[in-house]
Amino acid sequence: MQIKAPRGTYDILPEQSAKWQWMEKILKQTAYEFGYREIRTPIFEHTELFERGVGETSDIVSKEMYTFKDKAERSITLRPEGTASCARAFIEHGFYSGLLPVKWYYSGPMFRYDRPQTGRFRQFHQFGVEAFGSDNPFLDAEVIILLMEIVKLLGVKEPELHINSVGCPVCRPMYRQLLIEYLEPIKTALCSDCQLRYAVNPLRVIDCKNHSCQAAIKEHPLLSDSLCPDCTLHYQKVKSALSANGIDFIHDDNLVRGLDYYTNTAFEVHIPGLGAQSAVGGGGRYNGLVKECGGPDVPGVGFALGMERMLLAADLYQDQQEPANPVDVFIITMESRFIDQAMQLTTQIRRAGISADMDYNDRSPRAQMKFADKIKARLVIMIGEEEIEKGYYLVRDMQTSNQYQVDRETLTENLPGILLKNEED
Ligand code: AMP
Repeated sequence: MQIKAPRGTYDILPEQSAKWQWMEKILKQTAYEFGYREIRTPIFEHTELFERGVGETSDIVSKEMYTFKDKAERSITLRPEGTASCARAFIEHGFYSGLLPVKWYYSGPMFRYDRPQTGRFRQFHQFGVEAFGSDNPFLDAEVIILLMEIVKLLGVKEPELHINSVGCPVCRPMYRQLLIEYLEPIKTALCSDCQLRYAVNPLRVIDCKNHSCQAAIKEHPLLSDSLCPDCTLHYQKVKSALSANGIDFIHDDNLVRGLDYYTNTAFEVHIPGLGAQSAVGGGGRYNGLVKECGGPDVPGVGFALGMERMLLAADLYQDQQEPANPVDVFIITMESRFIDQAMQLTTQIRRAGISADMDYNDRSPRAQMKFADKIKARLVIMIGEEEIEKGYYLVRDMQTSNQYQVDRETLTENLPGILLKNEED
């Protein structure tokens, strides 16, 4: 039986990876320009890290983790997100006693046992940033500006930024109580998940995607009405910094995070053209996270961007894509007995920093010419008895059909000039 990729996973084939590289370059370069440096953490961690760092009551931890025992019976989990690993690394390497804030970016595969559908996979990729060590609302604004800058550079013309404040350990418990009192009498109208969780984690009911829940809680008390003066001020500063930097946003009372370590700012970016899975990225402030993971009380803020969804959105704007890279030079072997010399020539050209390829399938010179044309080689070089004897090569420009006779000794010096001519034509 044919073996296929596991459900919820997929291959990024070479013709698509050009697009991925284009996007990754923009993501990394923009984060770099904002002062963020790359961190690479392991793909798997101790399960406990995510239980603490993502929260045991979250859907991710309670339903979606790829958890297994390794051969020494340790519980290991394939990372479902990047923030917990960054917090662990921040603590483990003692960054809290160095220069703050520490600003990191990461990108790579994440794993969630989610129900696959368009824009939702079991192995997907996230790009994210984390800034630890400052509670300044201008840092929240910086992280949001960075996200919006990236979205713009990728060619998304109408992203929608939703923001809210989820308060802090001072004001949120009061809101929580208010919400439980509101939900209690209407609980039978909620979905079965929410009927179970409303008393433990009532904020998740607001977040529920179920239409009947949304209809039932239409008049729910608003978090923004319960914020303490500090949180109100923090939120105002974030909003005015965004406006001052030309970032439009929508205040969204339904944007909440159920977990205790989330504080103040929460945000999400939607791209309306993407359909049901329209959220491309989200994040917020998590002042309680580092402590929750066993470190000191250090604040943090960050976001994660779904790279598959981002590419789908960038796909709506094909004009932004780069063309696939052609090969610079293809070596045509006039007879198969010259394959040895063909390989040496190919190696020599590659060592000069020019992309080169040759025939490995014993094709006739004519068929090699067709092949070179198909892979969009810009130049071909013929190598046969005459060339080897006389010490020169015939270089043919595939676009203009111009031919150049080039001395073997000076070939690699001359190729860049010939390639340049090809570009000018
Ligand atoms: P989260 O870590 O859940 O806040 O997700 C951040 C972003 O990652 C989302 O806005 C999505 O773009 C993306 N994302 C989350 N889960 C998946 C998934 N299963 N498949 C593809 N993208 C996802």
